[in-house]
Amino acid sequence: MVQGFLLKYAEIGIKGKNRYKFENALCEQLRIKLSKIDGDYNVVRGQGRIYAEAAGDFDSDEVIETLKRVPGISAISPVEVVEDKSWDNVKKEAGNFIEKQYNNTDFSFKVKSKRSDKHYIYTSPEICIEMGAYLLSRFEGLKVDVHNPDVYIWVEIRDKAYIYSKVYKGAGGMPLGTAGKAMLLLSGGIDSPVAGYMISKRGVNLDAVYFHAPPYTSERAREKVVALAKQVSRYAGRIRLFTVNFTDIQMYIYEKCPHEELTIIMRRYMMRIAERLAVHNKCIGLVTGESIGQVASQTMQSLAVTNEVCSMPVYRPLIAFDKQDIVNIAEKIGTFETSIQPYEDCCTIFVAKHPVTKPEAEVIRNSEKKIEEKIEEMLKIAINTAEITEVDE
Ligand code: ATP
Ligand code: MG
Repeated sequence: MVQGFLLKYAEIGIKGKNRYKFENALCEQLRIKLSKIDGDYNVVRGQGRIYAEAAGDFDSDEVIETLKRVPGISAISPVEVVEDKSWDNVKKEAGNFIEKQYNNTDFSFKVKSKRSDKHYIYTSPEICIEMGAYLLSRFEGLKVDVHNPDVYIWVEIRDKAYIYSKVYKGAGGMPLGTAGKAMLLLSGGIDSPVAGYMISKRGVNLDAVYFHAPPYTSERAREKVVALAKQVSRYAGRIRLFTVNFTDIQMYIYEKCPHEELTIIMRRYMMRIAERLAVHNKCIGLVTGESIGQVASQTMQSLAVTNEVCSMPVYRPLIAFDKQDIVNIAEKIGTFETSIQPYEDCCTIFVAKHPVTKPEAEVIRNSEKKIEEKIEEMLKIAINTAEITEVDE
């Protein structure tokens, strides 16, 4: 008898010939994640699902919480793997399993069964009947309810017998490492960490870039961003965070360009720098936390003008989300409390009282001509002096 966790996945199942690649990537991610907590784990593939067999000192709740953060898994169930699948033994182990999983047995249940071993002494319906009768005789308080049971008890007879009942919802999505890498523009706000989490759930690895403007933005503001990157990395895996000093560029724009265009021009330079860093680091897309209409720099006109400076795709997973929906996700993934710490962001210093809300590309391009002289050199310096922090959970 082996204790473990049965992991089901949704979308990988429809991958046809490439399925094994996705399964292997998922197993790899599971091994990385499980190596960070107590216990010894053996991750094995089998018939459209994955088992993480557990040994040594492990805390089942901690394992489940860890597995819930692995993209690609749709459901997690503690499972008992029974090697000796003779019926008497399976019955007994199923009873032991119920004893371990539930403090009291005052609930209704239904046995569900699957059998891929067609030579087994019982058919699936017989397994349900026999197991139901056994459990009723062994536990007081148990009742059968075939229509609306409190608890389903699964008995699967395959190469071995598998018994499970509780089902926890997984993160869903696709395994990390199956999609390529993207550069996340990570600020200290609520939105961009959520955007990073959502993209990583599709199997995308992340690098991140943060623009600061010392001394106008503080070291504490930067530490907050590192903390956010760390929280995102609990889902997204290791993140390389580039911190770019944006002060000189920002001051230069402030000096030369119309103040009501400051934000939009700044955003264009952020995108340009992010794209160059992305290219250098083999990222094939940019990710931002923008959402239509949220602020002046996120009207459709502003987004269009921001977007035109990049040729790389810019992914905006929150584009149609309401703020409250974003906040709900931020709370779920644990970034909200950090995001609302009140530190200044470089976007909020020097901002005009009445920024343009419907910028025209032609006008903005003309304004940018005023900084032609030195801007290229400044961009190079900003990129070359970017500081790198390796962030992991
Ligand atoms: P967030 O909550 O993510 O900061 P926001 O609502 O404050 O977003 P903006 O400040 O307009 O919106 O920023 C839009 C997007 O631009 C952010 O979601 C983020 O992806 C990027 N961004 C803004 N400021 C920075 C920064 N200092 N460093 C890196 N990226 C930034
Ligand atoms: Mg912001």
